Amino acid sequence: MRVTDYELYEVPPRWQFLRLETSDGRVGWGEVYTKWHFREGSAPATRSAVDQMMQKYVLGADPGRIEDRWQAMYRSSFYRGGPVHMSAIAGIDEALWDLKGKACGCPVYELLGGPVRDRVRVYHHVDAHRGIDDPEKAAAAAASEAEGYVEEGYTALKLVPTGGLEPVDAPAAVERARAVVGAVREAVGPEVDVALDFHGRASKAMARRLADAVEAFDPMFIEEPVTPEHDHALERVAGATTIPIATGERLYSRWGFRPLLEADAVDIVQPDVSSAGGITETKKIADMAETYDVSLALHCPIGPVALAASLQVVAAAPNALIQEQVVVDDPDASRYLADDSLLDRTGSYLDLPEEPGLGVSIDEDRVRELAGTDLGFDRPIGRRADGSVGER
Ligand SMILES: [Mg+2]
Repeated sequence: MRVTDYELYEVPPRWQFLRLETSDGRVGWGEVYTKWHFREGSAPATRSAVDQMMQKYVLGADPGRIEDRWQAMYRSSFYRGGPVHMSAIAGIDEALWDLKGKACGCPVYELLGGPVRDRVRVYHHVDAHRGIDDPEKAAAAAASEAEGYVEEGYTALKLVPTGGLEPVDAPAAVERARAVVGAVREAVGPEVDVALDFHGRASKAMARRLADAVEAFDPMFIEEPVTPEHDHALERVAGATTIPIATGERLYSRWGFRPLLEADAVDIVQPDVSSAGGITETKKIADMAETYDVSLALHCPIGPVALAASLQVVAAAPNALIQEQVVVDDPDASRYLADDSLLDRTGSYLDLPEEPGLGVSIDEDRVRELAGTDLGFDRPIGRRADGSVGER
């Protein structure tokens, strides 16, 4: 069996699906995490990277030699790593695993050692408070939204408690975070996990101050207390709070995570399967983390193929804690699925996919119909009060 063809589709809202085809007519799917701008008429950088990887290393190759192709795609690039290269490798790797599972007639997690859990816990994002300046109104909005998800059965939530921050901000910024997190905790009670994402908006000084302000509300973890450029400061942040520290959506390989694990600076790693080299690399990161008593909470704010790939890793990773997702209960996601049982939720849990491969059933006609239409994703420039550029 050889890989004979591929097609990469950009589809709304901001997803990139990769379809591989083999000489015996099998089809495998992967999802590439597009980075930077994503809009009609302007191909994301990941398209060029996927084209090069496919042309040089995958077309004509045996799709069953996944590790060999991974090594070729990674090591043959003298300038390697980073968000674009590793996302391209990731999408291709997922599609190769999908083909492998389909060829073997089993879910991918069976090939990773078999399932270690029966279901996967997921959380829902709370963001009704975003953009509301008044602390009381922001807190009320977040609390009300959080309450709704708990009524729907979720037992875990995540929110970003601040807007953009000054390097050393006024007490009001800290107070707003305290008000929002406190209101959510009061609304949902002590049985529900509430995770906080600082989203790299805080300086190391503000990260410590904010952690101190919200610690009394027992957050599940603080995500990206500082930007990855300042991961050297995580040890100090972790030492200043009892809240577990999470990071990793902007790290792309084992080599990115190693310093954090060796420094004992992190409690939960958050690689993204579609960013960090696919199932092959993410499972290795998970296993590395396990040896340091560090949990796994895979980042996944993109589409259903990426979620399916994440579930395969989580099913087989003993240290998986919880899974991010934005596609459950979302018609934007289910419209691409011929069978959307992948997204069926029971309370805060998803079942393990049972179909061979990734267990995602793509509606190819719908993907082709919507490819290239209605695309638009950009990040505005974040400005501090004095007009200088900050983190947002
Ligand atoms: Mg995040």
